[in-house]
Amino acid sequence: MRRPLVAANWKMHGDACFVDTFIDGWRRTGPCGEVDVVICPPWAYLDRVAAALGSDGVQTGVQSVHAEPVGAYTGEHAAEMARDLGARYAIIGHSERRRLFAETDAVVAAKFAAAKRAGLVPILCVGETLAERRAGQAQASVLAQLDGVLGHSAAEALDTEVVVAYEPVWAIGTGETAAPAQAQQMHGTIRARLGDAGDSFARSVRVVYGGSVNVDNAETLFAQADIDGGLVGGASLDPAAFARICRIAGRQFDS
Ligand code: PEP
Repeated sequence: MRRPLVAANWKMHGDACFVDTFIDGWRRTGPCGEVDVVICPPWAYLDRVAAALGSDGVQTGVQSVHAEPVGAYTGEHAAEMARDLGARYAIIGHSERRRLFAETDAVVAAKFAAAKRAGLVPILCVGETLAERRAGQAQASVLAQLDGVLGHSAAEALDTEVVVAYEPVWAIGTGETAAPAQAQQMHGTIRARLGDAGDSFARSVRVVYGGSVNVDNAETLFAQADIDGGLVGGASLDPAAFARICRIAGRQFDS
């Protein structure tokens, strides 16, 4: 049995007041059940969130890292710095990074390795564009992104924890969600490919879904056999909605 995981991707949203309001709101929500909850705020608020919610069992993550541990890379942050600030996870290869910051599969692979080097759990994002889906290339695109990283990872890097997030690009921030059966099909394909690195690896990796997850669609998505939780953007900015999504993943239903 894989323990579900729900991660919040706040992107570049919020300020100190928002963070404090979110923390207050989160503390008013009930227990989430058997689920790993991760919040990935902007770097500036990482330690604020970790300090406030760490004792509530919420873990923190970053939305990207630089591949190098140290150096003249103005404006960048090393994975080791994220560890220093208490983070346990790092989102790697988000489609916004690939599209807006020209991150190729090679760059994503280097960042994945950096996260592992620093002892962070990478949440590796893969997903097809609408054009790729319409051209019947969805599966090929997702598997190429997966192979582009895992195919270059040393076996020992795969011995430790990895999370994969299937995020169809056309579903991110659009309000459009993959149909649960459609998402399950891709998650099954991803898990089958992970089997190339070993059956026990494939069985242990959590494959989460991202793309307009909300309180209304989470239940049917998370009920799919190979969907182990979610990577949540917009809905994670509302503590009540995010807690509800976490509770659905943790099967801690409201009484
Ligand atoms: C994301 O940013 O990873 C994401 C899935 O966003 P949203 O939930 O807003 O679609």
